Amino acid sequence: MLANVCKVCTALDTLPDDDAARLDRLLADARISARDIAEGMTAAGQPASRMPVGRHRRGQCDLGLNYYMLAVA
Ligand SMILES: [Zn+2]
Repeated sequence: MLANVCKVCTALDTLPDDDAARLDRLLADARISARDIAEGMTAAGQPASRMPVGRHRRGQCDLGLNYYMLAVA
């Protein structure tokens, strides 16, 4: 187990498919703030702060998927 595993990746792996898909869409939507996503994750039982959300969005976690580049494409 990695010491610094990404909370967002964990949530995507752990949440039911529908919720994970919704979270994925929110991450790709630049209008949704990292703070709002973190609060939504916390409400869904996946406590997170906006720091890991921002890191995940920028592709700086192990997944390495840059959502901002996705939005541009
Ligand atoms: Zn991640």
